[in-house]
Amino acid sequence: MRKILFASSEVHSLIKTGGLADVSASLPMALRQHDQDVRIIMPAYRQCIERLTDTQTVAIIKLDGIHEPVEILQSTLPDSDVMLWLVHSPFHFDRDGGPYSQPQGGDWEDNAARFSVFSRVIAAVAINQADLNWRPDILHCNDWQTGLAPALIAEHPHRPAIIFTIHNLAYQGLYSRDVFEALNLPEKLWNSEGLEFYGLMSFMKGGLIYADHITTVSPSYAEEICSYEFGYGLEGLLSYRAQQGQLTGILNGIDHNEWNSETDPYISKTYSIKTIRNKAVNKLAVQRYFSLPEKEEMLLMGVVSRLVSQKGIDLALDAVTHLLELGANIQLVCLGSGEPAFEQDLRVLRARFPDKVGVDIGYNEPLAHQIEAGVDVFLMPSRFEPCGLNQLYSLRYGTLPIVRNTGGLADTVVDAIEENRTNNSATGFKFELSTPEALEETLYRVMDLFKRPRIWRKMMVTAMEQDYSWENSAASYLQLYDDLLD
Ligand code: ADP
Repeated sequence: MRKILFASSEVHSLIKTGGLADVSASLPMALRQHDQDVRIIMPAYRQCIERLTDTQTVAIIKLDGIHEPVEILQSTLPDSDVMLWLVHSPFHFDRDGGPYSQPQGGDWEDNAARFSVFSRVIAAVAINQADLNWRPDILHCNDWQTGLAPALIAEHPHRPAIIFTIHNLAYQGLYSRDVFEALNLPEKLWNSEGLEFYGLMSFMKGGLIYADHITTVSPSYAEEICSYEFGYGLEGLLSYRAQQGQLTGILNGIDHNEWNSETDPYISKTYSIKTIRNKAVNKLAVQRYFSLPEKEEMLLMGVVSRLVSQKGIDLALDAVTHLLELGANIQLVCLGSGEPAFEQDLRVLRARFPDKVGVDIGYNEPLAHQIEAGVDVFLMPSRFEPCGLNQLYSLRYGTLPIVRNTGGLADTVVDAIEENRTNNSATGFKFELSTPEALEETLYRVMDLFKRPRIWRKMMVTAMEQDYSWENSAASYLQLYDDLLD
């Protein structure tokens, strides 16, 4: 049995802004099922403390330069037996708002201080200096919010093996030299082979330089981040680590308890491959929810997404608007929140085409399930996509994903070209260029195939047969842990 400390700034169902939270719950749970001693460490945000009523203080840590001691609260991840350690520093984490942003929007101004405290506590726990009497074999850090921890313990003689997983290279935690000084970090970390990144301080680089091994969440994204286009200036470092065999892509899995069309409590009617016809009940329910004409024969497209440029929302808007202007017989429902301009564009589209477009601005877990179950196709035209979860949920729900050929989308969706349809491997639709025209062309292909129910039905079945559970992914991580410990 290995002892694994799993560090993440968001964990479903306690707090979530995106896929990182899903992974940070599912992977530790899958590792537990493999009898590993895995413990999650995360910040004690207000929402988490309110949600967990049984926490116990198990350690108190004094950090240099931080006035109040930091407590470690112990609990269990809901609906699991995974031990949870919450880093309780009320000044940093006990406040209203999101994990990274203020209630009225915009990042917290003290994010560097907040996540340096988090990282310092991770570091202390990782080298058993937090009075917890537990020494992990593996420290598994995730994304920039944990990036300083590997840097802080890199030279410690009794440190665990360190893995750093990139969930999205676009968010790096970049701050000025002044911030670096204010954080009281060892001066030796300030160099281009350390945290310094073109005159700035990079939290992410702490993980990329000092971890023993880097992973990211799909094989294609692992290659892409070594290129100028996707590397954000870190492609040299990442290519070097890839050449050393220290960068691997491991696809995320999905939680089959949570995302299962046969048992989903949020949807109007559950269904399986055998009862696939029942999916139509969910379609009518979604149309009703969004006050659209309830028509089974109408192609219904769905989006559930953070509304940011990465997700290609503008491409979807442009392509769909053009098709609607031409009078296409399609409907679109969209659930999301993010950049105000995209939210506004969606509202405008809804106002222009009230019987074709439904929009819900916000974050709504049950509705996300209902859309996955109800729509015919799921739109995910991302400019880049480290792994992506919604296309995996879509496959599972017999909802055919329309994706750009990038990152995890490229690795998980098989395009409905003739050859793939003939050999029964097609599960969705893919396009190459990040342009509305390329997406629109694909939508014509989709509309054509939708008129051929037998082929469509076959694709739905093939999609539902795909297995993207955590079983495979967890096995790959376990193998990696073993390799590192050897
Ligand atoms: P990312 O992490 O880049 O946002 P992923 O596809 O990896 O993208 O994960 C997104 C996760 O967040 C999925 O579980 C998705 O269902 C969920 N999600 C995104 N936006 C919303 C929303 N508005 N309401 C409910 N769930 C959402």
